[in-house]
Amino acid sequence: MQAHETLLDKYAELTVKSGLNVRKGQQVLITAPIEAVDLVRRITHHAYKVGASLVTTLYNDEQATLMRFVDGDKEAFDTAPTWLFGGMAEAFRDGNCVRLGIIGENPSLLSGQDIDKVSRANRARSAAYKPVVEQITGFATNWCVISAATTSHARSVFPNETDAVALAKLWQAIFKCTRADQADPVHAWELHTKALHTRTAKLNAKHYSALAYKGPGTDFTLGLVDDHIWVGGASVAKNGILCNPNIPSEEVFTMPHRERVDGVVRSTKPLSYQGTFIDGIEVTFEKGRIVKGTAATGGDVFTKMIETDDGAACLGEVALVPHSSPISASGIVFNETLYDENVASHIAVGQAYSQNMKDTFILSPAEKLARGMNTSLIHVDWMIGSGELNVDGVFSDGKREPLMRSGEWVD
Ligand code: ZN
Ligand code: ZN
Repeated sequence: MQAHETLLDKYAELTVKSGLNVRKGQQVLITAPIEAVDLVRRITHHAYKVGASLVTTLYNDEQATLMRFVDGDKEAFDTAPTWLFGGMAEAFRDGNCVRLGIIGENPSLLSGQDIDKVSRANRARSAAYKPVVEQITGFATNWCVISAATTSHARSVFPNETDAVALAKLWQAIFKCTRADQADPVHAWELHTKALHTRTAKLNAKHYSALAYKGPGTDFTLGLVDDHIWVGGASVAKNGILCNPNIPSEEVFTMPHRERVDGVVRSTKPLSYQGTFIDGIEVTFEKGRIVKGTAATGGDVFTKMIETDDGAACLGEVALVPHSSPISASGIVFNETLYDENVASHIAVGQAYSQNMKDTFILSPAEKLARGMNTSLIHVDWMIGSGELNVDGVFSDGKREPLMRSGEWVD
């Protein structure tokens, strides 16, 4: 068995080389939970080794986040660090600073807090963060999101274990799902990317007009924008650098048409949205918009979430993931979208990704909107796939063919 330190170092190297693909002279901006300091130091080491000009890390501390909700002035929950996010967006704009997000928050950190404070804080943060989202979804620079095991998150995944055992188990799962435990993780990711690119090439050659879904509680048709592009695994950013935006990643995804989604959808996994658990979502779409939506857990937050702005009740992403994905095979519910979205097919309300539509780098915002691209302050994925989901590809003449049966690719 490989020692924890060895695995952590391989994971850090994988993040720098396959995830970010840091080029000589680029700056690196890292955001991370304070508990991830050991991993951050190893990443920093590898980043400088490949020629990073400067690595800057912003740590966040859950205890400090909570203090605001307990002791903070309740008139001040519409405040967000606009100056900070503006600066981050500025850094990413010209493609010379890469972005690494390390996540690992307690998924229910804020569940006991006042719903009004939580939603005001979320709203203010989303609005202030918009310039960053624009640069990232516009793929201005190479970027990557990974996860670190933290005690509170590990305890939410393994509630019956002690802190130490839960933490060790979560690290083990992270190393396995990211292939960091393999002999040569960087090479393993090259092969994985090749397989995902074969799948996206096949889907792009089909030019489907829509996807039709059927499963327990789910029966809906999801129109795709005309010039959609299926993407999976590594992609080239606007600055010409190939990177893997998510590690792990098992999905292939594309752009739904903002106004062409109709039917009912039921979620199949819980999701954590800014510190609140949301589970058992059931929605009805009409002409692309959620016209009726409930959630068995976290319903209030879900309702507020889809009311964030005009695009928050429409779709910005559709992703297909086979039910047998290695992350699904782990049998673990990670309570974290980065992992759980690779367990099952999913959809996301909110902002769409530019890379999923032809020519988006040159089209104006009005032209993109006219072609059916959604825009919003939020982008929230939720899982609708299972071993019981069937998906058909629908052509523009109405003919259809089976794409997934019982959660697996037909070919
Ligand atoms: Zn996705
Ligand atoms: Zn997404």
